[in-house]
Order: sequence, then structure tokens, then C-alpha cells
Amino acid sequence: MQKLRIAIQKSGRLHDDSIKLLKECGIDINNGVNKLKTEASNFPLEVFFLRDDDIPQYVEDGVADIGIVGENVVLEKNRPFTAIEKLGFGKCRLSIAVAKTADYKGVQDLQGQRIATSYPVIVEKFLRDNNVQADIHEISGSVEIAPGIGLAEAICDLVSSGSTLFMNGLKEVETVLKSEAILIANGALNEEQQVLLRKLQFRIQAVKKAKN
Ligand code: ATP
Ligand code: ZN
Repeated sequence: MQKLRIAIQKSGRLHDDSIKLLKECGIDINNGVNKLKTEASNFPLEVFFLRDDDIPQYVEDGVADIGIVGENVVLEKNRPFTAIEKLGFGKCRLSIAVAKTADYKGVQDLQGQRIATSYPVIVEKFLRDNNVQADIHEISGSVEIAPGIGLAEAICDLVSSGSTLFMNGLKEVETVLKSEAILIANGALNEEQQVLLRKLQFRIQAVKKAKN
């Protein structure tokens, strides 16, 4: 029988809500820790647990048919996906922050500055759109400590409450992007897979409606 393969985050901020959404859709999966994949018992669904950064590629390559990932990741990876469904969790923004003490008046103040980020592609586009030239320093984690150790004057990082920025002596000055978890799909699903996807989407929409 045809199955739909979904890629979700193995662990991290989207993991629990992704599982919860499937459960709310009436899909039973047993997600033991350290499992690579599992199968739903009451829906033709196979679940792959992956790093979020890898999900767009897996879906594009057709290793998974659909995936749940932050919109920010899809945009940074420059993948040709649009959200077939916004999922309403994993909400955050990608923001530029500078030292609390900095006298920041506007985006032009970033001119000639060093910006540390894990999102070089999105930041580059933001700077281009705003006619600002700045040095992008790509780092993979702990971006918020960069100004404190003299690596950069500004950072661009994901923010939800802003408390991490605050604790690191930073203030948020520009919102580059607003993001949430989205459902993406491979562009070449066969007829049966499309039927399964529509069924799943129908349930997701019902879950979303019930929450509003
Ligand atoms: P992985 O191990 O899968 O690579 P990760 O460390 O890259 O995980 P997480 O920190 O778990 O990623 O974040 C996953 C996604 O959760 C982000 O890409 C973003 O879409 C969303 N998110 C929501 N709120 C926040 C936040 N405050 N900080 C970071 N990410 C957030
Ligand atoms: Zn990641």
C-alpha cells in the first residue's frame, strides 16, 4: 500500500509540536527516543526524524514526500517551496540586534558594520533590499555572544521573547523576517500520495479551525 513519508525535526523546538499536531489529527505514532523513523498505526504515514536544516533537501529530493520545518530554514536554504499549510506553532522572528548601549537610529547605521548570523542568505538579501553594505560573519551557534567577544557589532538571530538578547546586553532593532512552522511538499507526488496529503491537510485544517 502507498504510504506518505513525512520528515519532522528529530529533537528541538519543533519536535514536540509536530508530534502533537499529528496526534491531534488522530494519527497514532510511537516516537521512541533515538529512532530514525517510525510508522503510524492508523494512517498510511511513515515519519522520519531529521535535523531541521536537512528537511527541505530531503523533501526536494523526494526521500520524504512532505515535511514540517520553520519557514526561516526554507528561505535560508533557498529551496523552491511555498508553504502548503502554515501550522501556527514555532513562531519566531529573525531580528537584528545591537548592543543595548548603541545609539541606533536606523538601518543605515549598519553600514560598514560586522553582523554575525547563522542566516547569511536572508541577511544578505535584507541588506541588499535596504542598500546597506555590511560584513556578514557566518557562525553556526551562540550568535548572541558575538558582540560581547568583539566578533561583530550586530547580530541577526531568531528571537521569540527577546530574553536571550536582553541577557546578553543586546537590543532588537530590526525585524528581518517573521516565521512559523510550515508544511512543505515534494512537487512530484503521485496520485495516491496526493490523495493522502489532501486527507492529512483536511485534518490539519480542522485542528487549526478548532483552535481559533
Ligand atoms: P536541529 O538540531 O534540528 O538542527 P536547531 O538547533 O537548528 O535544531 P531549534 O533551535 O530546535 O533548531 O529551532 C528549530 C526551529 O524552531 C527554528 O528554525 C525556528 O523556525 C523555530 N523557533 C521558534 N522559536 C525560536 C527561538 N526562540 N529560537 C530559535 N528558533 C525558534
Ligand atoms: Zn538546525
